[in-house]
Amino acid sequence: MRPLITSSEIEQEVAKLGSTIADDYQGRRLTVLGVLTGSIVLLADLIRRIDLPLQVGLIQAASYRGRTTTPGPLAINQDFLPEIRDRNVLLIDDIFDTGQTLSRLVEIVQQAKPAEIRTAVLLLKKGRSTVEMRPDYVCFPIPDEFVVGYGLDYNDEYRHLPYIAALDESDL
Ligand code: 5GP
Ligand code: MG
Repeated sequence: MRPLITSSEIEQEVAKLGSTIADDYQGRRLTVLGVLTGSIVLLADLIRRIDLPLQVGLIQAASYRGRTTTPGPLAINQDFLPEIRDRNVLLIDDIFDTGQTLSRLVEIVQQAKPAEIRTAVLLLKKGRSTVEMRPDYVCFPIPDEFVVGYGLDYNDEYRHLPYIAALDESDL
């Protein structure tokens, strides 16, 4: 496993993102919507850096893929989605890779008629997108490598690591 982003680099960028969001959403009704499961660590850290009244909600998206680069079919569970009609929704995910997950989630969340939807991710893999949209907020652009830690998993392991590391073939 190769360390890629340290926990203090993450802490710094998440704090910056929190204050940017606080500036951008001043006086607006904000709902921060975390995408399960990968966003849990970012969500917990980020909401404590947003100095504004806000509502927190969750939505679940799962596309089985293991370490492979092609996403499987996407399953979305809206059971935890709060009432978001007329609210300004900020969707939070761990990583934007092909973009299929976030773009599909935006379509689904749109059906609940929020005032606005923006997206924020910790990581954006460069040169991988297959969709038009890009996240509105990105902490770290990264090279095309399989990464774990800070919420990101390999078979539901490694999510607890406080840093981001790249997994190589030899780590599997
Ligand atoms: P996308 O739909 O943008 O291709 O992929 C988004 C989802 O795929 C992420 O929420 C994440 O679950 C998974 N994913 C994509 N790249 C990686 C990666 O490098 N490491 C891990 N652990 N998951 C990834
Ligand atoms: Mg995920």
